[in-house]
Amino acid sequence: MNLILKKDQLTDLLQTWRADYEVYAPQALHNFTHFLPLEDGFELAFNKAHNTRIPPKALFLPTSEALLKFTRFGGYEAVSTQVPPRLIFGIRPCDARAMTMLDAVFEQERYTDPHWKARRDATVVVGLGCHTPCQTGFCTTVGSGPFDRAGLDAILTDLGDLYLVETLTAAGENLFDQLSAAADEQTKRANELQQAAKESMPITFETEGLKEKLDANFVSPYWEEISRSCLGCGVCTFLCPTCFCFDIVDEAQRGERVRNWDTCMFRTYSLEASGHNPRPSRVERTRQRLSHKYTYWVDQIQQIGCTGCGRCVRYCPVGLDIRGMLRKANQLTTEVPHAA
Ligand code: SF4
Ligand code: SF4
Repeated sequence: MNLILKKDQLTDLLQTWRADYEVYAPQALHNFTHFLPLEDGFELAFNKAHNTRIPPKALFLPTSEALLKFTRFGGYEAVSTQVPPRLIFGIRPCDARAMTMLDAVFEQERYTDPHWKARRDATVVVGLGCHTPCQTGFCTTVGSGPFDRAGLDAILTDLGDLYLVETLTAAGENLFDQLSAAADEQTKRANELQQAAKESMPITFETEGLKEKLDANFVSPYWEEISRSCLGCGVCTFLCPTCFCFDIVDEAQRGERVRNWDTCMFRTYSLEASGHNPRPSRVERTRQRLSHKYTYWVDQIQQIGCTGCGRCVRYCPVGLDIRGMLRKANQLTTEVPHAA
């Protein structure tokens, strides 16, 4: 259903929702935007032409969280998975799609993560489509787009002094049930803007046959070439909306088993207790990062595990650009080199 929300109604509407939901929306903090809970006197910051620095996966998989509590002399108790109703407002479509991919990891038929599931079930997600392509994003290259609907309950299109709201689920309809219907002319204008936004995003590398090329070149000078300047800082993975590596440690002082974000770009991530490390250098770790997204996810969920959000490009301290890495991969062949 297409509805109309006047921009000068938005603050009041967000205030109304605060009575029923914990509302998160992009707000400015330390030169970046972040999804923060709305407090009295909030100021939104979602008119930037790119997404928040920390992806909204952090609202579902916190950087650090207790999984259970234990006592020194035996016995443990689970940590509550109760979550109040939540609303994420103004998420970009690439980040909403990323959460559907993480559902495939955390909500499997045999193994469901109760913390992830409780947060997902309690959260309504409202997206804001992207009119202006962000400089480092490449969503259309990887099968998403500036008005991708995946993972959203409603999506907004900016029509100047108002938004066209397209509700996509019953939760989205419920949220906006006091708005009036859009006129045909407004819907037509929104469709034109959405099409123009899509066409303004260039295809930055070829995905057809890419997996086969990366698979065939598991052993190749290509990996050394693309990882040469990598510092191993892990920023590309910590800020990636589809990366989900974590480590679990027992914090004896606190009596808690804690799950913390981790990254395959760190040497210690794959270091085994024997001292052997199957990914001893940044060459193998870069190969893992790219292969996970562009070959292993394709095998596992038949989708590239990258939504083209552009964060890894924007925040890499040495300017390593996954788009350039994959353009280079386009030049590889699928012929497996024979041993001499
Ligand atoms: S952000 Fe850049 S330097 Fe840091 S680990 Fe990733 S590719 Fe390497
Ligand atoms: S690999 Fe880079 S562009 Fe792709 S989803 Fe992760 S951070 Fe975004």
